[in-house]
Parts: sequence; C-alpha cells; structure tokens
Amino acid sequence: MTHDVINPATEKVVRSIELASVEDTDAAIARAAEAFKTWRAVAPADRGRLLRRFADAVDADLDNLAQLEVENAGHTIGNARWEAGNVRDVLTYYSAAPERLFGRQIPVAGGIDLTFAEPLGVVGIIVPWNFPMPIAGWGFAPALAAGNTVVLKPAELTPLTAIRLGELALEAGLPPGVLEIVPGAGTVVGQRFVTHPAVRKVVFTGSTGVGKQIMAGCADQVKRVTLELGGKSANIVFADSDLAKAAAQAPYGVFDNAGQDCCARSRILVERSAYGKFLELLEPAVKAFKVGDPSDPATEMGPLISAQQRERVAAYTQQDVAFTGTAPEGPGYWFPPTVLTPAPDSAALKDEIFGPVVAVVPFEDEADALRIANDSEYGLSGSIWTRDVGRALRVGRGVEAGNLSINSHSSVRYSTPFGGYKQSGLGRELGPDALDAFTETKNIFISTED
Ligand code: NAP
Ligand code: MG
Repeated sequence: MTHDVINPATEKVVRSIELASVEDTDAAIARAAEAFKTWRAVAPADRGRLLRRFADAVDADLDNLAQLEVENAGHTIGNARWEAGNVRDVLTYYSAAPERLFGRQIPVAGGIDLTFAEPLGVVGIIVPWNFPMPIAGWGFAPALAAGNTVVLKPAELTPLTAIRLGELALEAGLPPGVLEIVPGAGTVVGQRFVTHPAVRKVVFTGSTGVGKQIMAGCADQVKRVTLELGGKSANIVFADSDLAKAAAQAPYGVFDNAGQDCCARSRILVERSAYGKFLELLEPAVKAFKVGDPSDPATEMGPLISAQQRERVAAYTQQDVAFTGTAPEGPGYWFPPTVLTPAPDSAALKDEIFGPVVAVVPFEDEADALRIANDSEYGLSGSIWTRDVGRALRVGRGVEAGNLSINSHSSVRYSTPFGGYKQSGLGRELGPDALDAFTETKNIFISTED
C-alpha cells in the first residue's frame, strides 16, 4: 500500500511512500533485535563517537531537513530549522551519556554490591505529525545512547524527515538495524510495536485516547511505556505583571506551529482588574501575527496539517469569537488565529483543540486562578506572568503541570526534563535522567568471603 504525502500549504502531493505491513514491521523488529546483540557491546566511547557523527550528519543536512518539513508539515522555515537543529543538539547531549552511564557500589555485609544500567533491547517509538523531528530525536537519542536499538514509526501524514534521519544514521556509520524507520499506519505498525514480544518498550507521543489504548496494550506483556499526550495549558496573567509584554507574547505561546503543540497555552486566565486592558492589548498583537507561506522567513504561522484538522478546529469557533487575525485564501489548510471569550462551561476551555484558537477568561484571585488552571484532565505546561516572585513560585508550585515558565512561554530545553501530570502523560523525556527510562537497573552481589 502507498500513501500520498501532501503539502498542507498547497494541497499538492509531495511524494508517495510505501506503507509497511505487519510482515514488514516484524522484519524491521527482527533486524533491530539482531543489531542489539552487537550495538549493546560497542565500547562506550565508540557509541558516543557514532552519535556525534550522526549529529554532524544532521547538521550538514540541516537545510534539506528543514525544507522537507516546510513541504511536508507546513512548518515555518524558522521553526523547521530550529527543529532539525534540536535533533543535532539532542544527539550531541546524549552522546556524552554512554561514558557516564554509572552504576552504584552499595555498602553491604560479606561482599561488594554493584548496580548496572542495562539496555532494554528493541525500543518502539511512535511519533505524531505535529513535531516530527524533535519528538523522534527525544526518543531515539537517549534510547541509542543507553545501548538499545530502535524501530520508529513516523505519522503517516509526516514521514519524510524521519526517513531522511534514518538514512543519515547509516551515512554516519551506525550499523544497519540500529535505527529502523518503519512508515505505516498506527493501527498496523504502531499496534505491532505494542504486541511484538521483542519490543521491550514503547515511547508514544500523540492523543490521550490512543495513549490509553497503548498503555492498556502494553499491560499484557508488562511492557515499559512512556507517554507524552495532550494538553490544555493555562497562561495565568496577574494584574501586577508587565501587561504589555504578557499580551505581546501570548500569541507566540499558543499560535506557534498553528497551535498544533501539546504545550500550547490555549487558555489565558487574566486577573479581573486587568481583563479589559489585556484584551485591548492582545487584539493588535493577534491581528499583526503573520500567517502565510511557511517558506518565507518572515512568516510566523503556516497552515494546519490537514483538511480534517481544519474541520475539527473550526467546530470550536462557531461562537464566542472576540476577534481573529488573518489567513491566506485559496489552496492550503489555512485558519486564522482566533480569540474566544467563552462561558466557564464551554468545551473550548476543556478540549485540546490543537489549532490556533485561544480562550480568554477572567479570575478573581490566586486561589481562583489555581482552581481554573487545575480544572482540566491535562497537566502538561503553563505560564505565570507577575512581578511578585513569591507569588510566581506559589502559583508555580500550585499548578498541576510538568513544565511551567514564569514571565516566558518556553517549556522545552533538551537539558531539562519534559512531561505531563494527570492525563498529559507518564514519565519524563529529555534532561539528565532520560536514560533511566531506557535502562533496567541490575543489582549484582559479589561475595568476598573466603
Ligand atoms: P494519534 O492518533 O494519537 O496519532 C499519533 C501517532 O500514533 C501517529 O503516529 C499514529 O499513526 C499513531 N497511532 C494511531 N493509532 C494508533 C494505534 N491504535 N496504535 C498505535 N499507534 C497508533 O493523533 P492524531 O489522530 O494524529 O491527532 C488527533 C488529536 O490528537 C489532535 O487533534 C491532538 O488533539 C492530539 N495530538 C496530540 C499530540 C501531542 O503532541 N500531544 C500530537 C498529535 C496529536 P498514524 O496517524 O500514522 O496512523
Ligand atoms: Mg489518529
């Protein structure tokens, strides 16, 4: 079976790709299982060196990778270059890990006790369409560094950069089978990662609904699982903040990648005394947001990924619209940045819309802000705008979410942990501890008795 990859800015076919069957998936898993026998035994310094060579190959191909993502996912060229650079940086960061995969020596009676961090085997990584390159890299870089081999399924809609990264790994000298890219349907390839006994761990990023199915499926073999799921993050703006800056930055916190971002701050909570003023300041910022040709370096937002996604998003903007920005007409899955002022029980405040739509609501005081922010099944990220450092930390500690920023909207750095509370996920990616999620702790006792 083949699948036509569509450019979402033009609706034209970019390339047709072959989709893997269950048999193809089993063959890829078998190659990865075979490669594991030798990859795990590669000397730590050599494994690190190979990962740095892979990072260099990504860097040398950065313009091409970025261009592929502009065409395949409609990402702005600025974002796409950052994303390819992120794969390089994550590989470089974890290339230091093989030589630092320490165990412990624990004092016990009658001998020496040692722990080892052993690789799991074949790791299956299932990637969504919203950030194809970074999400792939956050999985495969620490997995490979820890001595595992990887089978990776890109989303059907966005397989092109993953396929290219697989080629670059081979060009850099990683042995065949160490990183297998398996493009195909979620219900075929992704599902096989869950059921195949040689796949010892599944790393899944995507919708909460599918994530729950994966977790349930993994239970059958007590298979390890990391989940990065949806979000409905709050951007909490206090009246004592730099209101002009908070309003100017708010669009970037939610409309980046056309709102197709699990960290999107899609609910803006504003202290009531500043609510009117904030909306007044937000309107020109939203109207000035540059939506258009993603290959133009000045563009700030491209199209949505598909016609289906545009329909899903449009269903939330039939009412309560305060104002909108602009979007091109003609071919392409365009949608204008849209600001809603909905009632407290609106679905627009509960559901992950995954488009350029933000809901603005007032709150009374700190306790009320926390009540609204935490009134969600999700808990991935969020922001707090205030000049009061004590309040910033009180509220930051009170929000049930894994990644918060104060007077900023940044949530992702490869050197810090990333992941969700509640139904936003399970486990953490990135940061200094990521290898814990790709290793088993083994304890060995050596008797020193005569
Ligand atoms: P999805 O269905 O969860 O897809 C994510 C990945 O899982 C894709 O690679 C998909 O493959 C695969 N998959 C789908 N069903 C599977 C199954 N039964 N077993 C194993 N793998 C499976 O997400 P979507 O349908 O693309 O998007 C729907 C909504 O999910 C979005 O509107 C958004 O709200 C949310 N979402 C969140 C994130 C996030 O980063 N948190 C990312 C994407 C989507 P195929 O698509 O190739 O079949
Ligand atoms: Mg789906």
